[in-house]
Amino acid sequence: MARGAKRKVKTKAKQQKPPRNRNKGPLWVIEGGKIVRSRETCPKCGPGNFMADHYDRQHCGRCGYTMFKKTGKVIPAKHKAR
Ligand SMILES: [Zn+2]
Repeated sequence: MARGAKRKVKTKAKQQKPPRNRNKGPLWVIEGGKIVRSRETCPKCGPGNFMADHYDRQHCGRCGYTMFKKTGKVIPAKHKAR
């Protein structure tokens, strides 16, 4: 290393977090010839587009539509539903 050059300070090795389990089970199952959905579908994108289920809200990752469970407040879609 050249004289006067700053040496990179070694940072403490970060503890590796265990991988998050993103699998939340099937979005739907067929029971007795009927589709039983475990998640709400997006009213903007139509059936087949399931919304992410959060503890306080449901969110569509496709158009950005969010619906709060407690207040029933709705944040409209950011993007046009295709
Ligand atoms: Zn949507």
